[in-house]
Amino acid sequence: MQGECSDHACVGIAEPKSWDACIPIVNKTLWIKSGHADKYNENMFKTLAGDVEMAVKPMNCPCHIQIFNTGLRSWRDLPMRLAEFGKCHRYEPAGTMHGLMRVRGFVQDDAHIFCTEDQIASEVADFCALVKEIYHDFGFDDIVVKFSTRPEKRVGSDEIWDKAEAALAEATKLAGLDYILNPGEGAFYGPKLEFTLKDSLGRDWQCGTIQVDFNLPQRLGAEYVGKDNQKHIPVMLHRAAVGSIERFLGILIEEFMGDFPLWLAPVQARVLPISEKFVDYAKQVEKELVNAGVRVEVDESNEKLGYKIRQCELQKVPYLLIVGEKEVADGVVSVRRRKEGDKGSMTVQAFLDMTADDRKVVR
Ligand code: ZN
Repeated sequence: MQGECSDHACVGIAEPKSWDACIPIVNKTLWIKSGHADKYNENMFKTLAGDVEMAVKPMNCPCHIQIFNTGLRSWRDLPMRLAEFGKCHRYEPAGTMHGLMRVRGFVQDDAHIFCTEDQIASEVADFCALVKEIYHDFGFDDIVVKFSTRPEKRVGSDEIWDKAEAALAEATKLAGLDYILNPGEGAFYGPKLEFTLKDSLGRDWQCGTIQVDFNLPQRLGAEYVGKDNQKHIPVMLHRAAVGSIERFLGILIEEFMGDFPLWLAPVQARVLPISEKFVDYAKQVEKELVNAGVRVEVDESNEKLGYKIRQCELQKVPYLLIVGEKEVADGVVSVRRRKEGDKGSMTVQAFLDMTADDRKVVR
């Protein structure tokens, strides 16, 4: 879901300009039905809309069920996968806040898969493959999987929990996953697999997760018509690959110590005109690079070239493109690579060719 906030379950701030600016508050009645008001109460921010009690959403799940419930669903619609970069807010006690790693407002790469019991194993296995692929792209191959079972504070009968835990165990077999058992650490509505990464300092961070949930769809009235023409309750899989984007960014910053590979660097190149006279040319270079998909900016400040170069070193900008009289005359840029130094003069096209491989994700 991108652009304007269109989630009908969300009563956000007046006329949100973008999804990012939207703080979705949801009527308390939904949180009572979902069980959050009871089991997750102390982690929710509450407010009033007139005299109606509302809470800022700490999770996207109940809202996704509202979307599922907008039409009559059939077994042919399943698995139905709803995904969004969903903004969540949780009241974390002050003592537990930790840089980008644990914050009170964050975005999850969240999805909910509505499926039949028969589809659980293959959906979970597909997700495990996706997670491995994504982590590998970022250079993380040391992944520990934890299997978290029913917690003390939970909704749903023991029979439902038996079924959910058995389904997840079967899925791990299909995915060929080894896991560590983590008793009592499941979500209040279902058991889960947690994917834990090690950062460069050897610390463990839980990122991705997939959870099997037989409870919330039932509590919130989700139904589909089966092959037998009868109504059934779908199973809901909650899944996030990187989890909180903020936490994942924190891990990446630690992992690379801010010195990102070219494809990940927020600014890949900075154009440094050696004086004001060459700013126009620098902007022309910038435009060509932007058109080729490079994240680039021009340093238009009046500082001396040495200072500008030092700033790039401090900010760990991978490439510096220096332009002065000679470069303008020859239609080239002088290229410096962080840590490696001078790469000589070349056209913008030659620079693009030289960096093409490094600008792509290495698989
Ligand atoms: Zn969820």
